[in-house]
This record gives sequence, C-alpha cells and structure tokens, in this order.
Amino acid sequence: MVKQNYAIIGLGRFGGSICQTLIAGGAEVLVIDKDEARVNDYKNIATQAIIADAQDENTLRSLGIRNFDHVVIAIGEDIQASILVTLMVKELGVKYITAKAQNEYHARVLTKLGANKVVHPERDMGIRIGRNLLSKNMLDYLDLSPEIKVAEIKITQNFLIGKSLMELDFRKNFALNVIAVRRNKKIEISPAPSEALNLNDSLLVVGLKKDVEHFSQLMD
Ligand code: ADP
Repeated sequence: MVKQNYAIIGLGRFGGSICQTLIAGGAEVLVIDKDEARVNDYKNIATQAIIADAQDENTLRSLGIRNFDHVVIAIGEDIQASILVTLMVKELGVKYITAKAQNEYHARVLTKLGANKVVHPERDMGIRIGRNLLSKNMLDYLDLSPEIKVAEIKITQNFLIGKSLMELDFRKNFALNVIAVRRNKKIEISPAPSEALNLNDSLLVVGLKKDVEHFSQLMD
C-alpha cells in the first residue's frame, strides 16, 4: 500500500489530535503553525514540523503543499486566515481538503471555496453527546449514510430476555440485522442464531435510521 501523506495547518487541540492519530496509523505528516511553542510540541511527533504563517502563499508553495494527498486546515478562531488558506491551498491544486468551520456561515464559505469535507468538531460532538443523553440505551452509533445507521443498543426489556435471535426474528420483527452481541465486555461477531439473550447484553445492529431509533426507544 502506498503511504498517504498529509499536511495539517494549525496545531490546536483539533489539528494536534489529528496529527497524533495519523502518525500512530503510520502516515507521513507535515504540520505547520505560526506559533513556535506549538510547533516545538510536535517536533518529535510529526514527520516534519514547520513554523510559518500559512497565509503566505510563497511559504505554501515552497513547502510543496500541492504534492500532499490531503491537507487539513485546522485553524481555529481566525476565520479570515482559515478562509484565505483554504482558497490558496485549493488554487495550488491540492486534491483533498478537510477544513474546520467555526459556524454555519464559515462552513458555507469553505464549501464554496472547494473544501471537500467541512467539519464542525464542537457542534458534531455536542450532537453526539446530546443524542447519547436522550437515548441512554444506545451506547454508540455510526451514521453510514443519511438513511442507514449502525448502533449498539443495550437489551433492557423482558420480552427479549431468554429468547434467541432466531426466535426474535430481528429482520422480520424490527427490520434490523444483528451483526454482533456484546456480553460481559466480550464481542461475539456472527452470533449463533440459537443463543438466548441475557439482560444487559447489547446488540450491534444495522438498519434504516428510523428502525434503529424505534428499537432503541423500545429499550427506554
Ligand atoms: P483548537 O480549537 O483546535 O484548539 P486553536 O484556535 O487553539 O484551535 O488552534 C488553531 C491553531 O492554528 C493555533 O495553534 C494557531 O497558532 C494556528 N494558526 C492560526 N492562524 C494561522 C496561520 N495563519 N498560519 C499558521 N497557523 C495558524
């Protein structure tokens, strides 16, 4: 497999944690920040750490930014800098840009300028935590598309306990596919259809969002 190489502009908490994750995954990562102390923190972590103002087009050119597979623009508060850097990185020909937005208007501008993925880390995490609070039996979830969701749901209701997956016929009765069962911290993938469910088992299910949410509500 060819190693992907990444450049991250801005080393706040967001850019910094992306850098650490990419490095742990074996990628090559160039990091750029105008703050010397932040760059020093990443000197021994990133493949290359540069102190520079990314708003300077010549700097971006001389770092060969266009040769990176993926550039992450993780500039936080300074919306003007984030917009200008996104514009320049796009014009220099980078194929895939992920940019962090501070608000909806900022996100729209970044998308218009050609950012391929715009993320709102605080908002997205807030939504996730809010949903977890509302549905305490949905332990975790992943939206595979706007319609399809994978979720881990704790079994709490008597009508499921002691019954097997076969008896419960999840596909027919709940329109869900059970892909794994978690019991006593162990995950059983491809669970045996004849095995009975216990209280506090959790099921990893995949299905239409509305069906996943309906099943989760039944457990509340
Ligand atoms: P977070 O919410 O991710 O912690 P911050 O606002 O703290 O975000 O971090 C953004 C980082 O981006 C800071 O380290 C800041 O120095 C850096 N930064 C901001 N503008 C530029 C720029 N023009 N060039 C390079 N780095 C920049």
